[in-house]
Amino acid sequence: MTESIESLRQEIDKVNLQLLELLNQRASLASRIGTLQTQSGMQLYDPQREAEMLTALQSSNKGPFSNDTIKVLFKEIFKASMALEEREARAKIIVQRKTPEQNTVVGFPDGTKIGDGSFQIIAGSCAIESFDQMDAVGEVLASEGVKIMRGMAFKPRSSPYDFQGMGEEGLKIARQVANKYGMLVVSEIMDASQIPMMSDYIDIFWVGARNMQNSFLLKALGSVRQPVILKRHFSATLKELIYSAEYIASGGNTNIILMERGIRTFNEEVRNTLDIGAVPLLKMETHLPVIVDISHSAGRRDLAIPFGRLAKASGADGLMVEVHPNPPVAMSDAKQQLYFDQFRALIAELRNVNKPDKAY
Ligand code: PEP
Ligand code: MN
Repeated sequence: MTESIESLRQEIDKVNLQLLELLNQRASLASRIGTLQTQSGMQLYDPQREAEMLTALQSSNKGPFSNDTIKVLFKEIFKASMALEEREARAKIIVQRKTPEQNTVVGFPDGTKIGDGSFQIIAGSCAIESFDQMDAVGEVLASEGVKIMRGMAFKPRSSPYDFQGMGEEGLKIARQVANKYGMLVVSEIMDASQIPMMSDYIDIFWVGARNMQNSFLLKALGSVRQPVILKRHFSATLKELIYSAEYIASGGNTNIILMERGIRTFNEEVRNTLDIGAVPLLKMETHLPVIVDISHSAGRRDLAIPFGRLAKASGADGLMVEVHPNPPVAMSDAKQQLYFDQFRALIAELRNVNKPDKAY
């Protein structure tokens, strides 16, 4: 056959198809390597391996492409393989957002929902101290339409000599008050051994900041039927928080609500620094609802309204706030718990703040 543009083009078309086949064959191999690397906790990007492959290719290169051109072409192939491996690794993370429409909505038998676009208020005293205290709080919460009450019976305090909570006795009180006012109870769990006992009293488990990386507790909560609120540790990155949520999700429980509660910085005016940017970032990276703790982030009640406004405007799915009948004599967090009138003012103010349709 005499050489013609047409015949050469036909040859090129054939080579293109072979290259296509080979490129996809290479991509499948790279993807299998990526899976093994992820399973064994290895980094996907290995610059040494890339350098070795380029050296081997350049020493086998007979032209007509120059070594520099070969390097440029193969670097593009390496980049595309890496992008594929990263996409596949992300797709395996259960809590990772896959589409803009994917949103976990945590629902309860009474119709209460978190993550459905509404702005939920979780409120109550820092700790259960007595029936009368909880009853007074419950009455105010119910009158303001609150559906989820804090019923904290185990308190992880900085000092072992501080009030440690009422334990099971407290949970009984919380359940009684919640039933009286038609509310759900959320309570902090310290150890997996408490799951059966707490399940008798509570509707939502709560993992406090200090236990965010207690992987054994997180795994155990992967098989409970109740939703779990997971607080960010004050020194945790968002990636670490997401992986902690993944511990719960990988056990089969995807009813997880993330909570931003402020991180430790050099700032002295507040107890922690409210990382409000975490809200859109977490909503962007995960499909889980995100709630803002406006009490432990501030450490002071005069910031409740401004922080509450920020929480709602950030696109969060709700906020958490501490309320006490007589804050100065509270057995824990006396400086940040709200008086009843301050709580009512906060709820009224929140009506003036629009929650954006999208958080990111
Ligand atoms: C709490 O919310 O009750 C609490 C103890 O906060 P944190 O775990 O964020 O310190
Ligand atoms: Mn507290």
